[in-house]
Amino acid sequence: MFWYHGTDRQAAEQICREGFRSHSFFARNMQDALEFGGRYVFYVLFEEDPGDPGDPDDWQVVIPEPVPKDRIYKLTRHLRFTLYEDRAVLRRQWLVACRLEHGPQAELCDVCRGDGDVDNRQGGTDTCRRCGGTGCLVDGRKVLQ
Ligand SMILES: [Zn+2]
Repeated sequence: MFWYHGTDRQAAEQICREGFRSHSFFARNMQDALEFGGRYVFYVLFEEDPGDPGDPDDWQVVIPEPVPKDRIYKLTRHLRFTLYEDRAVLRRQWLVACRLEHGPQAELCDVCRGDGDVDNRQGGTDTCRRCGGTGCLVDGRKVLQ
């Protein structure tokens, strides 16, 4: 079966030359690799299912050993055009997920507003210290993952 690895162009070029390093992530569904990994998506052959199909959370796996490039079926580049986006709706979804996981008292973090990341001065992002990157607080405190 194919599992999928999404990444950026630079990492994709390296994977084409060298294969996947140890501890690479693979997703069971191509859409997840695209959404969480990047728009360069590899289709990679696993002759035995590396996940656990009986586990509803097994959407991705980490493979401890390197995966050689002769297992790559193909690499695709996807275009992701967002034509409309309402971040307030996304935050409502985050709050729903937060309360499902941590109970009805849970709130989105007041620093990162549920994102889990904050902008830094270099123009990148850092993990939010207030919530530890979960985006979620209970009684104003970090939740345990
Ligand atoms: Zn936060």
